[in-house]
Amino acid sequence: MNQQLKTLYQIQKLDTRIIENERKRSSAPQHIEKMEREMADATEKALKEQEIIEELDRERRRKEKELETEKERIKKAQAKLHDVKTNKEYQALLKEIEAAQAANDKTEEEILLLFERIEELKREHQDLSSRIADRRKEIGVETTRIEEEMKSVDNVISTLTADKKKHLEHLDREVLQRYEVLIERRGGVAVVSAKNGVCLGCYMNIPPQLFIEVTKNNQFITCPSCNRIFYYVEDEEQE
Ligand SMILES: [Zn+2]
Repeated sequence: MNQQLKTLYQIQKLDTRIIENERKRSSAPQHIEKMEREMADATEKALKEQEIIEELDRERRRKEKELETEKERIKKAQAKLHDVKTNKEYQALLKEIEAAQAANDKTEEEILLLFERIEELKREHQDLSSRIADRRKEIGVETTRIEEEMKSVDNVISTLTADKKKHLEHLDREVLQRYEVLIERRGGVAVVSAKNGVCLGCYMNIPPQLFIEVTKNNQFITCPSCNRIFYYVEDEEQE
């Protein structure tokens, strides 16, 4: 048994877990950010709805004012009916009043439609607001959970890193350099086992004679295909 090889294998095991935890750690803030964006979008939508409601309400009030003015004018015209001298004048004035009344009926209808639309939008707006409030609570809980998980992941990484440091003390410098290059180039996996004559890093066949040597773990042997360093483990599951 080559002790350097064994140490390297221990370091790889720790690194695998460190990398896995770092991945978990780096995806967490993105998740929080995504939820914050979701909230910002929903809030913006609610704000726009509110603006539309206010705009329609201003329109409604404007029409109501207009209606009042027109009604006053009709009253005055009706009063004038008693004072006109000729039938022609009377007919003309009557026609004018009728036209004004028809216009008012139309305005009243428009006000009613606006009122209905405003009520409908208000209900929709209330629905959205309460959904936003619910989601905000959920996101708060989720964010706290993620933050706590991040803390615990940080702790795990610290422990693993401290453990790795201890192993590193027993590792030759050139072995470490070789290992680090492989870690960099082979997706974080530099040391692999082999099974039934197959490299478990790249799944290519190893020449039978070489495989026998690999199982002895007494020297540094690299995979002819992926260059990873072999450390033979009888059963990976039990390790
Ligand atoms: Zn390989």
